[in-house]
Amino acid sequence: MMSISPPSGSLLKCYVCVSNECRIWKEVLQCCTEKSNNLENNLQKLQYSLEKSHVRAKVICRGCHMQRYCSVSHLLEDRPEHQALCQVLRDLQKLRKIDHPLLLHGKISDRRQLQFVVSQLKLILWVKLGRPLTPREHQLMGDPAICDVCFSTGDLEDCDGCAGVAFCSLEHRQLVKGYHSSKDCQTLALIATPFRQLDVLVNIQRFFRSCLIKESHLTAAFHKATNIMVSSTPWTDLESYQLFSTCSSFSGIGSLCLALSHISWVTDPDKAVIVYVVGATQETLIYFQDMHLNFLFLQFPNIHNLELHFMGRTLGQMGETRSAFSKRTVIKHFYPLTFSQFSCVCNVDPTVVLILQPDFIGTGNITQNLVNLVQKKDPPDFDWQDCLCSIIRTFGVPICYTSISGIKAMSDFTAIKKVARENKIDVKRAYNLTDNPYREILPLHNPDPLDLERIVYANNYLEVVFTSLKKY
Ligand SMILES: [Zn+2]
Ligand SMILES: [Zn+2]
Ligand SMILES: [Zn+2]
Ligand SMILES: [Zn+2]
Repeated sequence: MMSISPPSGSLLKCYVCVSNECRIWKEVLQCCTEKSNNLENNLQKLQYSLEKSHVRAKVICRGCHMQRYCSVSHLLEDRPEHQALCQVLRDLQKLRKIDHPLLLHGKISDRRQLQFVVSQLKLILWVKLGRPLTPREHQLMGDPAICDVCFSTGDLEDCDGCAGVAFCSLEHRQLVKGYHSSKDCQTLALIATPFRQLDVLVNIQRFFRSCLIKESHLTAAFHKATNIMVSSTPWTDLESYQLFSTCSSFSGIGSLCLALSHISWVTDPDKAVIVYVVGATQETLIYFQDMHLNFLFLQFPNIHNLELHFMGRTLGQMGETRSAFSKRTVIKHFYPLTFSQFSCVCNVDPTVVLILQPDFIGTGNITQNLVNLVQKKDPPDFDWQDCLCSIIRTFGVPICYTSISGIKAMSDFTAIKKVARENKIDVKRAYNLTDNPYREILPLHNPDPLDLERIVYANNYLEVVFTSLKKY
């Protein structure tokens, strides 16, 4: 299995070929874990598909000008899945009289502008499609095929090592070589790997040792808890990637554990620990599967009853689920509401408020322009203003939030302070962490156009604040 080269970056690859390859990898992995004798057969299929997928993807979709294919037949095969996003980009180009979505604000001249356009396109798609982007759509938009030096979208070649950067000419290839270090190449390989398009989390059943949460970090705590050591080259095969990505998914619960270990709260085993997860989406729920909850119970054996209240406009149906974990109970409540709506109808009394990667300010300004641009009558609610106002009224309750970058963490805190000042509320930082040791380990392109840090991680920064009524 190891002798077969892994699928490399999808930047300039045919989407259909790459996803076929991923599917066969998945089958091979299945055969290995089940020790089935189909393995030989599947390895042959994999070899064949690898040979095919090394064909350059020369056919570019004429609608969006972004999606690439090896052949017209693969373009047609992908039509049903690609159609919705393609149509939005096609309409946008027509409306703005441009011949590539990345030219939304004219020719791109620097990285800041590229990040700005990418984040605007993602928002436009989100509003128009009325749903979050799928992993493949995120990858297509967030990691577009573009020359790393001059940002042209024409005829491109990519880096042999990571396939995560491209260049338009020999001259620009030399320039990229100058600053593309081997560490960068590895990070980009992990961003560009088509494995990112797969939903591959392993469901971990057995848990072993706890750790000192305050003194540990994600991979170490994960290793102690599961006996699984993650690979340092996770893009080389699906099994390594799967474990790496599973470890990364413990970032949400790890951040919660870290926050809990920094605040004093009553560990009365009869009393339920109540966590409000505010601004939750389907993506947030991935952080709270049974294995993640087992991790929390391992670190906090005194917690016997856990209540998780998920609040978010896109959560769908109101409802609750109950589950039992050897002598422990977990109740998950789902509210398709914002926190301010929730606090109007329900009694608010949590142990802790958790907000994973909110966007308190920033999108607000961009959004109005965008909403005008896409002319949709009922845009989704991006506005945290109201919500923040209610959140900071949970006096004495620790409010924990994570941010994707240092700049974002600062602007999120500024937003809280501003709303607090307007409402005559005091804000105290419980501690001031620069880096969250439980951030995700899967790198991302920085979506923030005002921030020059190129690579970021989900839950990069963690902050815990307390609020109280101002005394006179
Ligand atoms: Zn193909
Ligand atoms: Zn298209
Ligand atoms: Zn160039
Ligand atoms: Zn490279």
